[in-house]
Amino acid sequence: MSKFLNERYRKLESYVPGEQPKDRVFVKLNTNESPYPPGPAVIAAVNSREMEDLRLYPDPECGLLKDKIAELTGMKRANIFVANGSDDILNFAFMAFAGGRTEVMFPEISYGFYPVFARLHGLRYREVPLKDDFSVDPADYVCQNKMIVIANPNAPTGKALSLYQVEQIVRTNRENVVVVDEAYVDFGAESSAELVHKYENLLIVQTFSKSRSMAGARLGFAIGGEGIISDLEKLKFSTNPYNINRLTMAAGIAAIEENGYYEENCRKIVETREYTADELRKMGFNVIPSQANFLFVKNDRIDGGRLQSRLREKGYLIRHFDTEKLRQYNRITIGTRQDMEGFIAAISEIMEEELQ
Ligand code: PMP
Repeated sequence: MSKFLNERYRKLESYVPGEQPKDRVFVKLNTNESPYPPGPAVIAAVNSREMEDLRLYPDPECGLLKDKIAELTGMKRANIFVANGSDDILNFAFMAFAGGRTEVMFPEISYGFYPVFARLHGLRYREVPLKDDFSVDPADYVCQNKMIVIANPNAPTGKALSLYQVEQIVRTNRENVVVVDEAYVDFGAESSAELVHKYENLLIVQTFSKSRSMAGARLGFAIGGEGIISDLEKLKFSTNPYNINRLTMAAGIAAIEENGYYEENCRKIVETREYTADELRKMGFNVIPSQANFLFVKNDRIDGGRLQSRLREKGYLIRHFDTEKLRQYNRITIGTRQDMEGFIAAISEIMEEELQ
C-alpha cells in the first residue's frame, strides 16, 4: 500500500478469486465454470468481422444484446441492464441502492463479494446467519427496511428458495431494492424474473459465466423495473459507457441465438451432479442437496483443507473456504461425466489411504 491511497480504502480487504493455475494442467473444479466450450455460433461470431471492427467503440446502449436478452426473458429492452460480468452489476447495485440510512443485509454464508462491495462503498451491513441446515430463512428478511441481497441458489451451499419465498421478501420490503443474484439459476432452481412485472424494487442478476460457458468473456445482465434499470445506466454512463467490448457483445448475442445448446449442457451438468452426489454419499460424505453446478460436501473422517490439498496432488482443484463455519467443507464444481468419474476415483483412493 502506498501513502497515496485514500483513507477510505486503507482497511479494505479485496475479494480473493479461486485459483487459475498456470503451472500445470488440472481438472478445474474450483471456480464454477462450465466444463463445456461455448457453442459454434459464439466461436464463429468472435472469429469474424467483429475482429476488424475492433478499431471502433462498441454500442454503448448495447441495444441488440439487450433486445436478445429481453426476448429470451419475456421483458422489454428498458428492463435489461448489461455489464462486465455480474460482479460489475452487483457493484453498481451496492453503489446505487444503499448508503445513508439504507443499510444492506445478506446471508452470513453466501457469495464472498457482498461484504467486499459493502465495505468498498462504506455501507453499513448486516450478515444474517443461515439455519442449521444451511438454508436461508425468508422470515429473517421480511419487513427489514434494508437493501437485501440474496444469491438464489445460494453459494457455496447450492440451496435455493422458491419463487413464493422470494416474493415474500420482495413484497414486504417495497421501500428498498431486493437483489436476487441468480448466477446459478439455470441448474435447476426457479427464477424470480417474472416478479419484475409486479414489483418495482426487484433486481434479478444473471450471468453468461456459468450456464453459458463464457466466464472469460465477462458478461452479466440484470432484469428489473424501468426505474431501477435507468439508475444503473446512470452509474454505468458515469464510469465506463463502453463496458461491454465488441467481442463479448457479439458472443453474447450469438449465445442467445443458440440457447438450446446451453440448455442441453445444463441438463448434462445436473445429471452429472446427481451422479457425483450419489457416489460421494456412498463414501460417507455429507452432501447438501444442490440446485447449482457445484456440491458443498464434508466428511468427518478428513479435514476439508487436507482433502483439498490431497486432491491437488492428484490433479484436481476444488474450493476450500478457511473460515470457522466452513472449514470442514469443500465446494466441488461439476465437470463433465468423465471429469467426475476420475474425481470420484481420486477421492476414493484418498479416503482409503487416509484410513490406513
Ligand atoms: N454471483 C455469485 C453467487 C457467484 O458465485 C459469482 C461467481 N463468482 C458471481 C455472482 C459473479 O459472476 P460473474 O462476474 O462471472 O458474472
